[in-house]
Amino acid sequence: MVQEDLFKKIIAHSKEYGFIFPSSEIYDGLSAVYDYGQNGVELKNNIRRYWWEAMVKLNENIVGIDAAIFMHPRTWEASGHVAAFSDPLIDNKDSKKRYRADQLIEEHLQKIEDKIQKEVDKAAQKFGASFDEGKFKSTSPRVIENQQKYDAVHARYIRALENDDLKELYQIIIDSEIVCPVSGTRNWTDVRKFNLMFSTQLGSVSEEANTIYLRPETAQGIFVNFLNVQKTGRMKIPFGIAQTGKAFRNEIVARQFILRMREFEQMEMQFFIKPGTEMEWYAYWKEKRMKWHKSIGMGDHKYRFHDHDKLAHYANAACDIEFEFPIGFKEVEGIHSRTNFDLGNHEKYSGKKIQYFDTEANEGFTPYVIETSIGLDRMFFTVLSNAYVEEKVEWEGSAKEERVVLKIPPALAPVQLAILPLTKKDSLPEKAREIMDRMKYDFNCQYEEKDSIGKRYRRQDAIGTPFCITVDHDTLQDNTVTIRYRDTLQQERVVIDRLPEIMGDKVSLKGLLKRL
Ligand code: ATP
Repeated sequence: MVQEDLFKKIIAHSKEYGFIFPSSEIYDGLSAVYDYGQNGVELKNNIRRYWWEAMVKLNENIVGIDAAIFMHPRTWEASGHVAAFSDPLIDNKDSKKRYRADQLIEEHLQKIEDKIQKEVDKAAQKFGASFDEGKFKSTSPRVIENQQKYDAVHARYIRALENDDLKELYQIIIDSEIVCPVSGTRNWTDVRKFNLMFSTQLGSVSEEANTIYLRPETAQGIFVNFLNVQKTGRMKIPFGIAQTGKAFRNEIVARQFILRMREFEQMEMQFFIKPGTEMEWYAYWKEKRMKWHKSIGMGDHKYRFHDHDKLAHYANAACDIEFEFPIGFKEVEGIHSRTNFDLGNHEKYSGKKIQYFDTEANEGFTPYVIETSIGLDRMFFTVLSNAYVEEKVEWEGSAKEERVVLKIPPALAPVQLAILPLTKKDSLPEKAREIMDRMKYDFNCQYEEKDSIGKRYRRQDAIGTPFCITVDHDTLQDNTVTIRYRDTLQQERVVIDRLPEIMGDKVSLKGLLKRL
């Protein structure tokens, strides 16, 4: 299947089965804003809980907070967002479409890289085991030519970003002959800066009203509470503060479903350390976060690190963890060494001393920070898109048929257990309800008695329920039920008392947490 088609199918499926709806759909939706439905909210809560428990429950030196979305406006001056939280935008005059200039150039660079890779793959196939990639790359005229082209554009691009040179970004687009994907023309406007923060007014009388911002990241709520938490929690460095919550960005280009929204959710952890130890802790958190991603079991080859070409105004090292979505590798999480930029600036702007006193060394200092920042919605989409499978299966006794199944890791599945009486009569519903009442305290259960059992299995497959329990006439005699496994389609007859033990760690976060 073409990957773009797969992407569209997943979007359609997620709406049809109550995972994600366009916001205010009855008014034709609101651009780049989405609502989570009855199954979506369960999956999202499970992912959030897995992150929270991995951070706060498993690390004695990490605690959580929940700061407000609104913050004093000076916060965003201190953090640098008022001056620098902007993207370079450019419009195509023919299609009237708006783009991020940096993304147009990065896509252009990616295309050159793809061309090089294609040549390499072709040659590798031709020469088989004797293929020497290094030698090929340094001798093939076509590869050399493309590599030189890449290096030249890349060097100009990095310099332009470092110098905040909008004219040069424009010139690179012109010189590289980048066209608008919609109109196919090179009729571009100048590149302009666009601040991504949403603002609103606080206060009821307009003369007194203060312009405030919807937070563009959750991190600042942690920084401004650094002293509160450190003192009241008697925290000793190194220690971390974790938080999950909404963030808002007026994104210029927001066309990739929940990968780029204007209202989204972040899960961030700021780890406070001694100056000079930041590279050690940066490496530590890179490894730890990658392990968390891989523990979910979606395939180690789906992840890679990507070092930032341009460091943000606050960072001295930064990388992303990228996941391979149906539309290619995209960032899911950022790991940043933020130095003492934020705490130092909050000290300056607030006039309050923000220092940590090291009693052993008998000295005070402004801590350095390593940040791990993951988008909950993007994480949600890694799970959903990876889980979506169309496959041909043989149903009980019938010819091969196609089914759509979400192979969501059982511990994250919205419904873990479906309890299905075979028929609506003969006391089967009562027996099924009895089982439901026993199981519902430990598992997320769903009871369903409508339609044929086959139809009900298919509905449960489509929302990713790992276990279906069927209650039939034998159940009334011998207290056994049939478990039907989502992924293998195998059926097993077991006594009801064994159900908790069989589900056990498979559907609990504990099973995942133990892999960390
Ligand atoms: P990008 O380069 O994709 O714009 P970013 O580098 O600006 O992302 P960060 O500021 O590092 O992102 O934010 C941390 C995480 O928040 C990202 O890794 C991503 O998962 C998530 N995120 C950022 N912007 C959005 C958005 N508009 N919609 C959904 N998630 C987002």
